[in-house]
Amino acid sequence: MMNLEGQTALITGAGGGIGRTISVKLAESGADIVLVDMSPDVAEVRGEVESLGQKCLTFEADVTDFDAIDVMVKSAVEELGSIHILVNNAGITQDNLFMRMKPEQWSKVIDVNLNGVFNVTKAVIRPMVKQRAGKIINISSVVGFSGNPGQVNYSSTKSALVGFTKSLAREVGARGITVNAVAPGFIDTAMTQALNESQQEVILQQIPLGRMGDAEDIANAVAFLASKEASYITGTILHVNGGMY
Ligand code: NAD
Repeated sequence: MMNLEGQTALITGAGGGIGRTISVKLAESGADIVLVDMSPDVAEVRGEVESLGQKCLTFEADVTDFDAIDVMVKSAVEELGSIHILVNNAGITQDNLFMRMKPEQWSKVIDVNLNGVFNVTKAVIRPMVKQRAGKIINISSVVGFSGNPGQVNYSSTKSALVGFTKSLAREVGARGITVNAVAPGFIDTAMTQALNESQQEVILQQIPLGRMGDAEDIANAVAFLASKEASYITGTILHVNGGMY
């Protein structure tokens, strides 16, 4: 278990399968938690975090709303003192073959998965620069590297996070801030449960470890990158995919 005592972590998409597990894992490691999600489900996670003895704030907010996110981060910093760890985890899919993909499906996925990361990071980077310390962890995806039919929009955003991670790491390293990404493979959550049985079968055949990942596999990688043990790691993508890519 990593030791994150005295740290505050903000996690977006904290009501979903992976975000919830990351939030609880960071709380178990001793961090106070700011949960952000546009779904009211996020309130359920608060009880779990508080039962671990950590402080917890909950914001029902949309990462695509630049102004609302700015206000939210200011109020979280005021209440908890600072934000040391940011996990940009909120993400959506709107799959369709490119020939059928509507401009709205393209724009919506870009807006949440890429502009959302810009918005939240913009708001959090100021307090991090001020305290000359911070860990930013972006959740990319294996399909940002391998590509995937039906996911031109989604995989474009997940590759874009690689450029975002590497460029920002170069800009803010001198301020004591690390920026890394975790690229999950196929993880058993609502997002992948939407795939039919034969799609899941095809995917399983491509995974050398022979199973889908679980959210805990991703949370462990995030906790490591958030810890002081990972202090000399920045601009890196940690692939957590059972060997599929
Ligand atoms: P999920 O659908 O279970 O959770 C995503 C959460 O993000 C939801 O709670 C949703 O309400 C929230 N969200 C969506 N749009 C938002 C917005 N505009 N503002 C605030 N919150 C918003 O998905 P998940 O499987 O837990 O995925 C989490 C992250 O991991 C995503 O970025 C996803 O792309 C990535 N990922 C997942 C897998 C997988 O196999 N499940 C694989 C690779 C990468």
